[in-house]
Amino acid sequence: MAERVEILLSEEEVNERIRRLGEQISEDYAGKKVHLVCILKGASFFMCELAKRITVPVSLDFMSVSSYGSDTRSSGVVKIGKDLDEPLTDRHVIVVEDIVDTGRTLSCLQEMLKNRGAADVKLCTLLDKPDRRVVDVKVDYTGFRIPDEFVVGYGLDYDQKYRNLPYIGVVKFD
Ligand code: 5GP
Repeated sequence: MAERVEILLSEEEVNERIRRLGEQISEDYAGKKVHLVCILKGASFFMCELAKRITVPVSLDFMSVSSYGSDTRSSGVVKIGKDLDEPLTDRHVIVVEDIVDTGRTLSCLQEMLKNRGAADVKLCTLLDKPDRRVVDVKVDYTGFRIPDEFVVGYGLDYDQKYRNLPYIGVVKFD
């Protein structure tokens, strides 16, 4: 079966939206420092672009998580693969995620990180599929709301492929 990727959001659209998110975060955090927590691997491209657009002082850390059990869609608990390097005590944390689907990953992460003594923990995602939501999680910064389709690019993969595409696309099988 042939596989191709159809563009859903162009490179220009994505970059422009990230620029505006950076402006908004810079305004909201005026006079403060933000600590960006990147959820690997998917959010890495987004976080780098976002960090460049934030004008208040920024520090970065990285974490990788996976769902417990083989069925990632039904599990409500996340397992930490790579943990953060630094403590979160008194920091203004923004968790940076690639996409929110059921909401389980972010909701679980937010609880986990709040318990580590952060001043506050906000959530930022490049993409949101609201139709798929199972857990009611409040996302503070959203790049784009998209339909329920499997997307790749800008860090998101299909079987570890397509992360390096500079746009967001939908995988089609002919
Ligand atoms: P949630 O816990 O919100 O159901 O799952 C979010 C995670 O599912 C994302 O971080 C991502 O790894 C994966 N995911 C959900 N939808 C998509 C999609 O359309 N494309 C890709 N590549 N990953 C997705």
